[in-house]
Amino acid sequence: MKGVVGGGIAGLAAAYRLQKHGHDVQVFEASDQIGGLAATYQTRGDQIEKFYHHLSATEETIVDLIEELGLGDDLVWPIGKNAYYMEGTVYPLDKPWEIAAYPYMSVYDKFRLTMLTQEIDVRGGVPKFDTYDDLEAFEDVPIKEFLLEHTSRGVYENFFEPLLDAKFGDRKEDVSAAWLLGRIKFRGERDLLRGEPLGYLEGGFGRLLDALVAAVGRENITTNARVEGLGIEDGAVGELTVAVEDGAGTDGPDAAAHAEADGGTTTRTHAVDDVVVAAMPNVLEDLTGYECDIDFQGAVCALVTMEESLTDTYWLNIGHDAPFGALIEHTNYVPPERYGGDRLLYVASYIQDYEEDLWQMDDNEIEALWLDHIEEMFPDWDRDSVSQFRLARNPRAAPIYERGYLDTVVPYDLAEEVADGVYYAGMASRAQYPERSLNGGILAGYECADRIADRKEVVRTE
Ligand SMILES: Cc1cc2nc3c(=O)[nH]c(=O)nc-3n(C[C@H](O)[C@H](O)[C@H](O)COP(=O)(O)OP(=O)(O)OC[C@H]3O[C@@H](n4cnc5c(N)ncnc54)[C@H](O)[C@@H]3O)c2cc1C
Repeated sequence: MKGVVGGGIAGLAAAYRLQKHGHDVQVFEASDQIGGLAATYQTRGDQIEKFYHHLSATEETIVDLIEELGLGDDLVWPIGKNAYYMEGTVYPLDKPWEIAAYPYMSVYDKFRLTMLTQEIDVRGGVPKFDTYDDLEAFEDVPIKEFLLEHTSRGVYENFFEPLLDAKFGDRKEDVSAAWLLGRIKFRGERDLLRGEPLGYLEGGFGRLLDALVAAVGRENITTNARVEGLGIEDGAVGELTVAVEDGAGTDGPDAAAHAEADGGTTTRTHAVDDVVVAAMPNVLEDLTGYECDIDFQGAVCALVTMEESLTDTYWLNIGHDAPFGALIEHTNYVPPERYGGDRLLYVASYIQDYEEDLWQMDDNEIEALWLDHIEEMFPDWDRDSVSQFRLARNPRAAPIYERGYLDTVVPYDLAEEVADGVYYAGMASRAQYPERSLNGGILAGYECADRIADRKEVVRTE
């Protein structure tokens, strides 16, 4: 049997692909809900992600999977408006004339910004089209140094710096120029007159998780089941130990497992010949001792349910020092009718240091802080229109893409570093660069499953 640690998108994708290769699989998920960072809330209509989600047009693997699982007709590509909030005004920034009218950058700054986003190097006055092809050449270049050299101070200070503050806080100076260039390539083609189409699965990405669970088979997935140890002998993995909360699903191979009861949990040991760890690298370290040098940032993200809309923008970047990084009004992207007519607004902030006030505050304090600030920014907004404030937190929401990042990613196959049969598909894998995504999780799961299948193929033919 193949064991999969983690029932997020990466673990489910690994299980799905392993089954396609003809293997028996069992997925173990520590929490009571499948989905990890893509888990959902219920609304008066569709389910919705606890953390905002959309797809970029360059992400093909997830589109193929959605189609394969029969949901292709429900994948839509609406255009959500982007804007910048500066000194009391919302400035839309999608269409060429909106960018031309934006008062916080000069014509020259806008030209340099446009050239960079088109990947044209105009330094020295002679346009070059291949400067940004080799991302690795920019892996050790600090992002600020790069932007000052390749654009202008105005572009850095009035466009990128507020975005970098929101995304990386005081870690922004550590981030590499390769990450920024990777993000520019990662974005899909923009419709010049309307903006960038972003993919969304009608009914929420929870439907993709549900379809994967159905494909893998509920009997092959155990929730409330925390993997606590791997048994490694003679350089190969042979066992996996799971603490299962009593009363949790115990179908499938659990019946055959060796079990010991202790308080509210039962510890089970399963014989496995390969294990895919599809969780954060700290879990990999706990299970195997493999140390990963990547630092992670946390996220605090509220879903605010309102009777009235706040703005007509989907993604509003904030150009001043605010207690949150962005306001993302989901129902300006997906119609409110899908949510019983409610308006849904994400308020989001990344956490660089767990000592930060925001990480220490309780949910009520964050609600008061954030809604007070939104009221100050939008004096006409009616706070009484808020009917629900739900808060999600995660200590490891995204890697910090520091300089030299690619040297620190965890290999898919850890035969050399840990033991034969140990694979890694979590967020510290190569597929989750330059941006962590559902697509990256699926790719990482597939990469591990394919390596397991290829290796068995070699063993059989030798
Ligand atoms: C704020 C935010 C915004 C995002 N926006 C987007 C977006 O717009 N588009 C996009 O595509 N992606 C987005 N993402 C990223 C996307 O959600 C993740 O890349 C993806 O869900 C990661 O999946 P995963 O399976 O690798 O990890 P996870 O989702 O973290 O799953 C790992 C699972 O392992 C379980 N686990 C941990 N330890 C154990 C153990 N010992 N035993 C058993 N189980 C264990 C955990 O409970 C968890 O369920 C966003 C994420 C965040 C936080």
